[in-house]
Amino acid sequence: MIARRRCRHCGQEYSYEDDSANIMTFCPHCHRYDHLECEYGYGGIVPCQVLLGDQPLAVIRKSGEHYRLDSLQLNIHEDLNHTGIKALEEAEKRITQALPVKIVESVEK
Ligand SMILES: [Zn+2]
Repeated sequence: MIARRRCRHCGQEYSYEDDSANIMTFCPHCHRYDHLECEYGYGGIVPCQVLLGDQPLAVIRKSGEHYRLDSLQLNIHEDLNHTGIKALEEAEKRITQALPVKIVESVEK
């Protein structure tokens, strides 16, 4: 299903596929981390799809005892130091470092 959101940073709208249980979205306009939908407390939080709007950006998954972040687009292939929900936060910071923020004009909310 296609979901729509208004970015909490720049206020621009974007759409994405919310077919997975765990989804982290980055805004396709300003490239900032916007939103996390996850089964925390209910089910597995990985694999977690990371999307840049409607484009796949990265995947966080469990690999043995570790959590792992893979992104072809950002050329990131590494084990994370944390596990569980903290691994998602770590991945978000890692992606934020690798994805240059785009300056966009904010729209009135
Ligand atoms: Zn934005």
